[in-house]
Amino acid sequence: MGTENQGYPNIPGRTTSSPFASAPPPGVPPHSGGPAAGSETVGFRPFPPSASQPIRPFAPSGPPMAPPVGAMRPGQSPLVSQIPGSRPPPPSSNPLPSTAYGPPGGGGSFQRFPSPPFPSTQNPPRGPPPPQTLAGHLSPPMSFRPQQPIAPVTMGPPPQSMTSGPPGGIASPPAADFNMAARPGFQQSMPPVNPSYPGGVISQPSFPGYPSKQVLPAPPMPFQSASQGPPSYPPQAGGFAQHPNLAAQQNMHPSYAPPPSNVQGLVEDFNSLTLSNIPGSIEPGLDHTKFPRPLDGDVEPNSFAEMYPMNCHSRYLRLTTSAIPNSQSLASRWHLPLGAVVCPLAEAPEGEEVPLIDFGSSGIIRCRRCRTYVNPYVTFTDSGRKWRCNICSMLNDVPGEYFSHLDATGRRMDMDQRPELTQGSVEIIAPTEYMVRPPMPPIYFFLIDVSFSAIKSGMLEVAAQTIKSCLDNLPGYPRTQIGFITYDSTLHFYNMKSSLSQPQMMVVSDLDDIFVPLPDDLLVNLSESRNVVEAFLDSLPLMFQDNANLESAFGPALRAAFMVMNQLGGKLLIFQNSLPSLGAGRLKLRGDDPRVYGTDKEYTLRVAEDTFYKQMAADCTKFQIGINVYAFSDKYTDIASLGTLAKYTGGQVYYYPGFQSSIHGDKLRHELARDLTRETAWESVMRIRCGKGIRFSSYHGNFMLRSTDLLALPAVDCDKAYAMQLTLEETLLTTQTVYFQVALLYTASCGERRIRVHTAVAPVVADLGEMYRQADTGSIVSVYARLAIEKTMSAKLDDARNTIQQKIVKALREYRNLNAVQHRLGSRLIYPESLKFLPLYGLAICKSTPLHGGPADISLDERCAAGFTMMALPVKKLLKLLYPNLFRVDEWLLNPSADHHDLKDVLSRLPLAAESLDSRGLYIYDDGFRLVLWFGRMLSPDIAKNLLGADFAAELSRVTLQEQENGMSKKLMRLIKKVRENDPSYHPMCLLVRQGEQPREGFLLLRNLIEDQMGGSTGYVDWILQLHRQIQQNA
Ligand SMILES: [Zn+2]
Repeated sequence: MGTENQGYPNIPGRTTSSPFASAPPPGVPPHSGGPAAGSETVGFRPFPPSASQPIRPFAPSGPPMAPPVGAMRPGQSPLVSQIPGSRPPPPSSNPLPSTAYGPPGGGGSFQRFPSPPFPSTQNPPRGPPPPQTLAGHLSPPMSFRPQQPIAPVTMGPPPQSMTSGPPGGIASPPAADFNMAARPGFQQSMPPVNPSYPGGVISQPSFPGYPSKQVLPAPPMPFQSASQGPPSYPPQAGGFAQHPNLAAQQNMHPSYAPPPSNVQGLVEDFNSLTLSNIPGSIEPGLDHTKFPRPLDGDVEPNSFAEMYPMNCHSRYLRLTTSAIPNSQSLASRWHLPLGAVVCPLAEAPEGEEVPLIDFGSSGIIRCRRCRTYVNPYVTFTDSGRKWRCNICSMLNDVPGEYFSHLDATGRRMDMDQRPELTQGSVEIIAPTEYMVRPPMPPIYFFLIDVSFSAIKSGMLEVAAQTIKSCLDNLPGYPRTQIGFITYDSTLHFYNMKSSLSQPQMMVVSDLDDIFVPLPDDLLVNLSESRNVVEAFLDSLPLMFQDNANLESAFGPALRAAFMVMNQLGGKLLIFQNSLPSLGAGRLKLRGDDPRVYGTDKEYTLRVAEDTFYKQMAADCTKFQIGINVYAFSDKYTDIASLGTLAKYTGGQVYYYPGFQSSIHGDKLRHELARDLTRETAWESVMRIRCGKGIRFSSYHGNFMLRSTDLLALPAVDCDKAYAMQLTLEETLLTTQTVYFQVALLYTASCGERRIRVHTAVAPVVADLGEMYRQADTGSIVSVYARLAIEKTMSAKLDDARNTIQQKIVKALREYRNLNAVQHRLGSRLIYPESLKFLPLYGLAICKSTPLHGGPADISLDERCAAGFTMMALPVKKLLKLLYPNLFRVDEWLLNPSADHHDLKDVLSRLPLAAESLDSRGLYIYDDGFRLVLWFGRMLSPDIAKNLLGADFAAELSRVTLQEQENGMSKKLMRLIKKVRENDPSYHPMCLLVRQGEQPREGFLLLRNLIEDQMGGSTGYVDWILQLHRQIQQNA
C-alpha cells in the first residue's frame, strides 16, 4: 500500500491517521454526512481481465529433481512407534480397477451470490466497540517481527516460517538403503490379488459438509484396543503387499506391522453423529484399504457457502472451522487450530469476476469506528439514512451521494446495482487518500550471478532469453521499469538510457563502500529503452561466456540493487549460482558440518546465519521491494539464509539444484515467465478484521508484519496464501455470528490504487460437535504445515513431527470423549467425517521434505527451499503436494475410445502405496512440482517403444520424454500438457524411471509413497495405530 513510513505524509483520518495509505488505512474520513435524498449509483466496471489473470498458461515451477545425492541415509523413523510384528509378504500388484475419480479440484459447485439480500436478516452483532482489529490503524513504524504479531520480535528471531522453494517433493536423495528393498521387484513376486482398493468397499461419502448418513467401513473389531500391547496383525489377503526382501529388511524396525488379514466390512450408520469409524482392529479386521484417502483431491467446504451465500468464495478465505466457539472454554476443547487461510488474489472461479467499484464522490463507505468496508452484511435503517456496521455494530450515517430509499422489507432499492452489497468479494478503486505517493509503476530489477558456474550451467543464457521473451508481457505497459546488475567478484552496472544504442557497463570493485554510478539510468522505462534492454539481454551470455571467476559478491550486489530500487520499490529477482563468498553477507559452509546434526543446535542450520539477510529483507520491505530468489547450485548455498530475503519481503524461493539448461531449462523458462507475467499487486498491505471478542493472534507465511495485524506485502500475486490463527479475547461471545473481512490495499499494474475486500460470516456455536462438523481439513492442514515448518526453525525435526502428532491426538481424543461413550465405540478410532483425512495429511506433513527423516536424509538446502515454498502455498496446491496424484495410464493409452474424455473420468487416483503399482503398468505420479513416469518392469515393450522411440531401452535417467510420431505418444503428451495447464503455478518436470532402477526409483517415487513404511518411516497403518493408542491413553 501505500506506503510506509518512509517520510510520506500521513493520511488524514478520523480515527487515527496512519501513515499507510494502504489497505486498511484507518484514516479515511468517515463519511458521516447526513442522509441525503438522492441516491446515486456508482459506476461499476467489471474487473479488467488483465488485472486478474496471468496471461500465460505457464505453470511453472517445481523444483527440479535433485540429483541423487549419495550421502543420504535412510530416514529415521520419526514417528515410528513400537509395534512389533512383521508383515507377511504381500500380494502384490493389483490390477487396479479403476476407481471413480472425482474432480481434483472439487468443489465448484456453489453459487456465490445468490441475490437474496441477506443483510437485513442478519442480526448485527451487537456490541461494544471496535474490535481489536482496528487498532491497527495507526500503523506504527514497521518493526520486523517474524511471525507472531503478538510478541514483537525485533529483527531477531528466526523466521518461523518459510516458503517457496522447490516443493517438497523434490528430489531427495535416495538413501542408499532406501532403494532397498522395496524395489527389487516388489510386485512381481506376487500375483495380483484382490483388488481391494477399487472403490467398492470404501464408499467414501463424498465429503459432504454434514454427512447425514454414511456408510462406514468398519472392521468388525475394534481397534483391538491393544492398549496394552503391540498389536499384531494377522496377515490378510488384500494387505499391503510387500516384497519379502522388504519385509526382512524391515525387521529392523520394530514398528513394522503385518498387514491385517481378513477384511470384513461392517456397515454402520452414524447418521446423526457424523462419526466415522476406522477399521481398527488389529486382529481380524484392520483393513487398510478402507482407510480414508483424499482421492478426489481437495473439496472446498461448501456448507459455509450454503449457509451464507454472500460470503466470499472459499478460495479467498477458508476458516479452519465454520463454527466459531462461543467461549474460551469451548475453544480450548477444540485443540485444532482456530484460524483461516487467506489467498487474497486467488484467481476467480471460472466465469466469475471480482467486480470493480468506484464510489466516486461519496467516497468509500466504511465504518467510522472500525473502518470496515461496506459489505453485504451491513444493515440500513432510519429510512436508509443510517447503516449499521456488521463488525462493530456502530451506526454510521449514509453519505448523501450513497443514499437510497428502502423498500418495505428494509432493503435498499438500489441493491441490485450495488455489488458491494450483494457480493462477498469486490475490488474498490481507492481515491487519493489511500496514497501516500503516486502509485508506483511495475518495476522488475534483476540481480544476476555471472560467475563461472552460472555460465557453465547454462543458467545465464536461459534467464536472459526468458526475460527477453517476456518483455512484451510484463504487466503495466507503458509504465513498466526494468534494470539489471550482474556480479561475480565485482559488481557490474548497466546504463540503459534510451538514447544509447548499446548498454554501457560500469564495474565497481570496491565491495566495502558500495556506490551506485549513474543512479538515474540504471532503472529505466522499458518501453523507452526497449532496444537497449534487448541488446543487453542478447549480449549478456556472450559477455561472460569465458568468465572463470568463481567468487560471489552477492551481499554487496544486493545492497547496490537496494540502492537503485529504494526510490520506488518493485520486484527484485535474484539469480544465485553459488555460496556468497565476498563482502557483506558472505556465508560459510555451515550446512556441510555433520557434527551439528542431531544435536540441539541442529535447527540453527535451518535459519539465517547472518543478520545481514534479515536486515536487508526488512529494509527492502520497508521500501516496497519484494524479492524472489532463484538458486541453482549443486553445492550448498545456504538457502536458509538466502530464502530469508524472500520470506520477509513476501516473495518466493525457486530452487533448481544442480541446474543444467539441457535438463532444467524448460522448467526455469516456464517458472520465470510465470513470475514475470502473472498479475502482481504492488506496494500492498493486508489486514483482516473480525468481530468483537476475537482477534487474529498469529500469522504464518511469507510477509513482514508492519504492526500487530498489518501484513506488509511489497508484491503479491495469486499464488500466495497466508495462514493465521484466531484467539477469543472474551470469555463468552454474545453474538450469533462472527464476521471476517480481508482488505488488501495495493497498486495495480495499471497504476490504479485499489482495495480488494473479501467478507464472510460464520455462526457462533456453543456445541463442540458442531465445530467438528464444520471443520475444514484443508485449512487445518495448511495451518499445521506452516506451524510444523516454523517449528523446525527452533527445534529438532523429531520434535516438529511429534508436535503435529500430538495435536491430532488431542483433537481426536476430545472428539472421542464427546461421542464414544454413548455409542459404545469402545476401542474404535473415531473421527468426524469432516476430518477423515486429517490423520493421513498429518502423516504427509511429517513425511514432507521440510520435516522428513533425519538431518542427513535430505540436503539442507532442499529442505529449506521446500519449507519456504510450502509456507506460501494456497490450500489446494499444498494438499496436492502432501498427497500427490498417482494414476495408471497404460490401459488408457491403449484404449482408443478413451481419448476424448475428461481426465478425471478416465484416470483414477490411486492410494500412494507400492501395492498400487502393477509391474505391467505405466503410472504417473504428480505432486504439482514434478511428474514422474514409472515404467513397470513387465510393461508391454510396445508401449515403451511408442512412447520413447529409439530410447526405449536406454537408461531412463538420460532420456527426455518427447513426442513421437504415433497416436499413443501424442495422447500421453496431451495428457501431460493438460496436467501442467491445470495448475500453472509451477512447471513440473517430467522424469522417467523404470521399476527397479536404483537409486532413482527410490527418491523419485518410492520415498513419496507416503502410505508405505520405508526406511524407518511410519506407514499409514502404523500411524493410525499409533494415533489410536495414544488417543486411548487417558481417554
Ligand atoms: Zn464498525
